Amino acid sequence: MTVIEVIQGDITAVNVDVIVNAANSALAGGGGVDGAIHRAAGPGLHEACVKIAAEKRKGAGTPPSEPCPTGEAVLTGAFNIRCKGIIHTAGPVWHGGGRGESDLLASCYRNSLFLARQSGFASIAFPNISTGVYGYPKDLAAAIAVKAVRETLPSCPGIRRLVFVCFDRENYELYKKIIG
Ligand code: ADP
Repeated sequence: MTVIEVIQGDITAVNVDVIVNAANSALAGGGGVDGAIHRAAGPGLHEACVKIAAEKRKGAGTPPSEPCPTGEAVLTGAFNIRCKGIIHTAGPVWHGGGRGESDLLASCYRNSLFLARQSGFASIAFPNISTGVYGYPKDLAAAIAVKAVRETLPSCPGIRRLVFVCFDRENYELYKKIIG
């Protein structure tokens, strides 16, 4: 059984094997948790993202696929952050709920867990993907996140610990209420 924890804090300081970044599909870097992770990891992370983006674009057809399409996940090293890797996933932008946002958000959690499993990581920390600049209603996003990980974890027996890292009080209270 995987232990699921909820904490309030900064994901760059959490002691786990791999942290998940709420990135954008271009892996271009941004504000919010993405900015915090890039600042803490140092310039090596930016270089790694540029390299992945270039490789993906080179291998793609016409039109070239994005480096990390919404709902998918890619792995980089962690550079100056004290963990073993960083999984970058692109959450959906909230458009009112009619554009597949819930499935895409669930895919972010599921694909990040599959990538962590494939890489042999035993512990993972997630931010509240899409609930910042991307505008996803926090209550809906929290319910999707918890459901997605509960459905996926049984097929990831090597992942022993999962931490939901909530930056703001509202998300923290929501997750606490759902997880109990
Ligand atoms: P998105 O574009 O997916 O909405 P944001 O980074 O804007 O991404 O926000 C996602 C969530 O990450 C928000 O709930 C925000 O409060 C939170 N966040 C911001 N900085 C950090 C951090 N250092 N650690 C954990 N979560 C953070």
